[in-house]
Amino acid sequence: MEQDICLRCGGSMIHIGREQLQMGKYGWLIGSWGHLLSGALSVDIYCCQDCKKLEFYAVDPVEDPTNTIARVPCPHCGTLHELDDAKCPHCGKRLY
Ligand SMILES: [Zn+2]
Ligand SMILES: [Zn+2]
Repeated sequence: MEQDICLRCGGSMIHIGREQLQMGKYGWLIGSWGHLLSGALSVDIYCCQDCKKLEFYAVDPVEDPTNTIARVPCPHCGTLHELDDAKCPHCGKRLY
């Protein structure tokens, strides 16, 4: 991502790194995204040189969603579903 301008003070934002955010740990930061994505999210982090405001930009998800969403087979019917599903989407049985 090219250099950006701080929304707060108009200063220049510098790229300070790319981090993997763990959904469980950083749920407070990204809120409802935790329902859309599971596992780790890559973000580019920018910092304003003037007011030190931090900005996070989500990196585009990898093409293959099976890399980011853990899937396990249903113990009742064997259909693959997301690890954190409360019920099997195929047979409706409660999991765990
Ligand atoms: Zn700023
Ligand atoms: Zn099932």
